[in-house]
Amino acid sequence: MSHSVEILSVGTELLLGNIANTDAQMLSQGLSELGLNVFWHTVVGDNPQRAREAVALAKKRADIIITTGGLGPTCDDLTKNVLAEAFGRRLVFDEGSAQRIRAYFQRTGRPMTDNNLQQAMLPEKCEILENDWGTAPGCAFEAEGVHVIMLPGPPSECQPMFQYRAKPYLLSLSEGVIASHTVKLFGIGESTMEAQLREQMNAMSNPTLAPYAKEGECELRVTAKAATDEEAQALLQPTVKQVRELFRDKVYGVDVPSLEYVVLKGMGEKGLTLGTAESCTGGLIAKRLTDVPGASQVFKGGIVSYTDGIKESVLRVPEHLLTQFGAVSKEVAAAMAQGARQVLRCDIALSSTGVAGPDRDDWDNEVGTMFVAIATQEGTHVRALHLGNRPMRERLRTQTASHALDLARRYLAGLDYGD
Ligand code: ATP
Ligand code: MG
Repeated sequence: MSHSVEILSVGTELLLGNIANTDAQMLSQGLSELGLNVFWHTVVGDNPQRAREAVALAKKRADIIITTGGLGPTCDDLTKNVLAEAFGRRLVFDEGSAQRIRAYFQRTGRPMTDNNLQQAMLPEKCEILENDWGTAPGCAFEAEGVHVIMLPGPPSECQPMFQYRAKPYLLSLSEGVIASHTVKLFGIGESTMEAQLREQMNAMSNPTLAPYAKEGECELRVTAKAATDEEAQALLQPTVKQVRELFRDKVYGVDVPSLEYVVLKGMGEKGLTLGTAESCTGGLIAKRLTDVPGASQVFKGGIVSYTDGIKESVLRVPEHLLTQFGAVSKEVAAAMAQGARQVLRCDIALSSTGVAGPDRDDWDNEVGTMFVAIATQEGTHVRALHLGNRPMRERLRTQTASHALDLARRYLAGLDYGD
């Protein structure tokens, strides 16, 4: 049976626009990985009457309702009351949860007020989802053919509560196991990727293929359902192989977290070191590299050389290149990478220079004109980019950083640079 899920987020702050509904986004991602269909996102304020109406509607159309928020100790936290009432259940005091709440306050050294024990009131005959990341326990129950799961609102609690509590509950609903692999691609647009896969995607039911676009990158998630994990893997492998063959050098990894991770790992394995010289990306390449735990094994450092003066004095970019070609040029990109390689004494250096906008530069280069370069012991390669002139500074910078990392990833994999 295929399930239909409604995510019901409770909180006036969401309606006021004070916060974005990131819980719903996170849950939707996680649920689609489980092969569950999310058909509705609903947001309702901390208002009992409107919350009742929202629950009544969800109960009619969905067979799994997942709520977020409103589990806490304050009187505006109404989720449990409304859900329990809708399914004809009473709230009963759970001593185990009360003890956990008391222990939480002792551990964190905060004083506990009586209303905190309100959180130990849970629907009768429910499965309690213990909250190791905060105070309010979640809960799950089935009634009238509908599964109800309640999760706390703070994302730092909602996320692990989904991962470690709700997910096992949901997996127990479906027979067998669901397994998936994520193929990561760079240098191909989502629409091109989809076009190449459309026929296959439509013809497939197990495994399924789901494309995602993400900040200039693409992902393809391959998901299979089977009686055992082994059987699921056997279903997945041929499709993963097919996808790899279809997109070849655009695939930078399977089940890997990011481009920067792949670069650092590849360099670490070869015992190579890395440095950066950044202009238009303002340190973003270095930032992304140092987001990866263990980066210090490989990454020696980076220079943000924003002005011509710094490019010249620190990176030793020859003055005549700057005056002849301008800072945004393939010549200067190459000289920056070479300079960084020497100054930082690293095996590989990456550089970036370009116009992130909103205006053209002094040399009348269009916004989105970018150059990234890699310098290695074999030589230097520059990639010229024309990323479009819509003023999306942040996106331009992210994509430029990804292109620089892509050069390193290709070098390490022994591929040509693809330019
Ligand atoms: P608490 O015990 O902290 O009161 P709760 O389950 O009652 O948790 P809420 O009171 O509804 O949750 O929200 C607590 C905080 O969690 C909010 O101030 C907000 O910062 C965050 N939050 C709530 N709902 C969401 C959501 N859907 N997406 C992202 N953040 C949320
Ligand atoms: Mg609350």
